[in-house]
Amino acid sequence: MSWIPPLLLHYYITERCNSRCSFCDIWRQPAGPDALLEDVERNLHDAARLGLRFVDFTGGEPLLHADLPRMLRRARSEGLRTTLTTNAMLYPDRAAELVGNVDFLHFSLDASTAADHDRLRGRPLFDRVMASIDLARQLGEKPDLLFTALPDNLHHLPGLAEFCRRLGLVLIVNPVFSHREKRELNPEDLAFIDQFARRPFVYVNRAFHLLRKRGGNSIVQPRCRVVDSVVVISPQNQLILPCYHHEQARISLAEGLAACWHSAAVNELRAQQGRWPACAGCTLNCYFDPSFACRIDALFMHSMAAKIKYARDKYVRAPLMRTLSRTDPRPAAGIMASLSKPDDSPAEAR
Ligand code: SF4
Ligand code: SF4
Repeated sequence: MSWIPPLLLHYYITERCNSRCSFCDIWRQPAGPDALLEDVERNLHDAARLGLRFVDFTGGEPLLHADLPRMLRRARSEGLRTTLTTNAMLYPDRAAELVGNVDFLHFSLDASTAADHDRLRGRPLFDRVMASIDLARQLGEKPDLLFTALPDNLHHLPGLAEFCRRLGLVLIVNPVFSHREKRELNPEDLAFIDQFARRPFVYVNRAFHLLRKRGGNSIVQPRCRVVDSVVVISPQNQLILPCYHHEQARISLAEGLAACWHSAAVNELRAQQGRWPACAGCTLNCYFDPSFACRIDALFMHSMAAKIKYARDKYVRAPLMRTLSRTDPRPAAGIMASLSKPDDSPAEAR
């Protein structure tokens, strides 16, 4: 039994998605019913009482859920900090409902050109992301841009880093963790990304890179502490264990999250975290990031260093730039268009 409460709730409120990202499986599978507001509110209350600090409303595309604004408000009223990642298709239509209730708002942006971003996302989303950045800035939000680093989009990284520097917004570089039928990031790719780690307004968590260089999770000496650090809830009001991507069990939350979390069944699965055959070599960022906080080692230190830099960029450097009128006031699409176009391939960019 773990005596330290988990940090983060990954709340899958819908399995529907309006995007068709080449590197994602979620849209390829049939979607079940969306989460019910009453279940979400009860689970958020229980999560706060269990000691969780953050809730990530995820999916699917979370903005497809009509009740998302009420969920966000409830989470904050329970003292939880909220995270929302969106492909931005619906953000311009729903921004007014969300304003002020998302602590960490992320727009996915995988390329500096519409052609490449829309190809990777399978939908014409680039213009919506640009419009969303402008609207969020007008509303006083401070969105981050989330770059999923793939073997075939790294040549966009220099341009996106410069774009974010001019806007005073953080670019989060997230190495892809499952990439159907294509190669994963190799050591050269990771070294290329590492060059951006010290740049202002670029977040590179080198702990993810070190984990990959070590071959990912070991099932003999697991670094994964997903069940200790993360709670994963399905839209159908079930606890998913140990993680969404390799679930071994779903347990109904009809009796409440707290009762379920302290049950013998969860404790048995906790003892197995990181030890299933599918855990060999695992590098799932969203579960390892909280896992890094569970043991002080090199992975912990790299992860903490990245978070300290993120906080400095977002809460010190960016406000200073805004105060001194050093951010570029032009619309996002205009700034992007003024940047030099990327070379055709990652190799040429290096
Ligand atoms: S927007 Fe997110 S959930 Fe939807 S297909 Fe893309 S990566 Fe998957
Ligand atoms: S698949 Fe990965 S995240 Fe899930 S339990 Fe195994 S090591 Fe942890």
